[in-house]
Amino acid sequence: MTSSSSGPRTTTAPGNSRAPWSLAWVGWCLAAAVPAVGHFLIPASHPVAQVVSYCLVSAGTAAAMAVGIRLHRPAARSVWWLLAAGQVMYAGADIAYFVTTTGSETNYPVLANVLYLAQYLLVAAALVLLGRRRSPQRNTAALVDTAILAVAAAVLWWVFLIHPAVAAPGFSALDRVAATIYPVMDLCVLTVAIRLLLGGGARQTSYQLVLAFLGLTLFADTAYGLLTLHGMYENGGWSDAVYLVSYLALGAAALHPSMRRVAEPVEGRSGATLYRVVLLAVATLVAPVVLAVQNLRHAASSDLVVVTASAVLFLLMLTRMAGLIAAQRRIAMTDGLTGVHTRRHLSDALRAERERAARHGGSFAMLLVDVDHFKHINDTYGHPAGDQVLREVAGRLRDACRDTDVVARFGGEEFAVLVTGEVPGRLAALAEELRQRIAGAPVLVDNRTAITVTVSIGAAVLPGTASTEELLVAADGALYAAKRGGRNRVVVGDAEWTTAATPAGSDPADVDRQIQRWTALVSEAVRRRADHQNVPVSMVAGVCAAWALLRTAGPDRPAFTAEQARAELRRCRGVQFHPHAVDEFLALEAAEVVGTPAAAATPLLPATLG
Ligand code: GH3
Ligand code: MG
Ligand code: MG
Repeated sequence: MTSSSSGPRTTTAPGNSRAPWSLAWVGWCLAAAVPAVGHFLIPASHPVAQVVSYCLVSAGTAAAMAVGIRLHRPAARSVWWLLAAGQVMYAGADIAYFVTTTGSETNYPVLANVLYLAQYLLVAAALVLLGRRRSPQRNTAALVDTAILAVAAAVLWWVFLIHPAVAAPGFSALDRVAATIYPVMDLCVLTVAIRLLLGGGARQTSYQLVLAFLGLTLFADTAYGLLTLHGMYENGGWSDAVYLVSYLALGAAALHPSMRRVAEPVEGRSGATLYRVVLLAVATLVAPVVLAVQNLRHAASSDLVVVTASAVLFLLMLTRMAGLIAAQRRIAMTDGLTGVHTRRHLSDALRAERERAARHGGSFAMLLVDVDHFKHINDTYGHPAGDQVLREVAGRLRDACRDTDVVARFGGEEFAVLVTGEVPGRLAALAEELRQRIAGAPVLVDNRTAITVTVSIGAAVLPGTASTEELLVAADGALYAAKRGGRNRVVVGDAEWTTAATPAGSDPADVDRQIQRWTALVSEAVRRRADHQNVPVSMVAGVCAAWALLRTAGPDRPAFTAEQARAELRRCRGVQFHPHAVDEFLALEAAEVVGTPAAAATPLLPATLG
């Protein structure tokens, strides 16, 4: 057709080469407006001229769409051809309707109705295809939202359109079928249109014009149904004007240059915006509100349908909530940069593993993996390269571990692995394998830069009777030993790395190390307590240091018993220490977080400190 006249410019080159056609859609609107307005200006005494002007617009729309597709050559040609085919059906149905009803009393010409119905199916198919192309990834949330809005719309359609028509005394069987089938078709188109809308993404002019076509058609169909139901419909009324404008919009959509981009894939959205939540809330309220209105009007004939819809909406909303909770859980469990678990998830898993070990009299173990000289990597290659190193290290850790092991990002460049299964025999070997995997092959950050990365690993295994904090402190102690030992190495610690069971010695360095570990253990526990009192962690650590000294025998006095030490701390409450710091410490001590030193009765303090 017209495209052949555009000659060599109908090739693939985008942009300026098509500039002369970029305003074709405006030309279409102006040209089609002439018969559309004419339809209303032609006096009723010329019915044939009226019909011709109407059909010129509907058939012209199909032709305009064909021109648009040839002109713009969209990638998603099938979507547009389906829409155009739908419009051909519509135009054919309009013509068949006028031809068969002129001069006869037939309200339901078979051919016209078959064509009208075929149009719905083609448009629905086009919208499904368009939705798939825009959002190819599965989106359960959008599907549930679509179902909620569609069920709410179905309630309104049923109560105000379908049920009254089905129950109307003066309606023939054909009337009833028509009053049911057209709203159902409208509902189908509405449902796929909602799904398309909820998929999000850019709304090009062409996309908006397609939506305008759908909205106007649905509105006119509904108005037509309601007017017919109440005996108020007149041929050539304002609903015809709405149909004509919808045709104009569809033709313009196909001729607008942005029609080429309508089917491009869009970014998936989480879909829990405030606007969406309000929309869903309103939709779920439709059924109960309708029920209440019906009750007030004593029109309870379709109660069962509305009540069922209410229950379905409730269940759909619950499904949506479950989906949101699962999504939030996934986010809370997963580190955004590296994709391994978060520290929060590791804490939960550690606790569960400790309980399992305690039940079975077994042990539980973890590794702390710290990238060596990572600051230097950041400084030398830049932060993005540092990020890539972290991702790669995380990936190698995950690859080497079992599925049941929990790999987590513990801090900036520090990872933790909760090792499960037959732990004691495997721990050292696994730690060494991890170290070698990371040191063995440089990390490629782009095609030119290969960075050699090493890690230091602290490993610890403790019996289930120990606390998770003790395990953490033991692994931490081992990690620092690995760092001090020269990095790029594994150190396996055990119970002796925890403060609680550090064997006594009279070397001041041992005492110092014991108190440091002890306070580290308690500080870690304070940070983890969700309900901790608002006191600085270091204040609680100070109380802890005092407790450690009280529980340690001096050269000239025996160690305080736990009860004596508690009494002593309470005495100092508000005098030497902040009352909340003492309370916080005593709460942890009561929860057995602090533990009992194996060497409590052994003099630890040398005379010089006593
Ligand atoms: P060491 O061998 O003793 O562990 O030395 P280090 O340089 O690895 O340790 P240090 O704690 O001094 O430095 C860690 C650095 O990690 C500092 C911080 O800027 C960087 N870092 C923390 N989180 C991230 C992150 O998400 N991305 C990047 N690129 N750097 C991070
Ligand atoms: Mg480091
Ligand atoms: Mg570190």
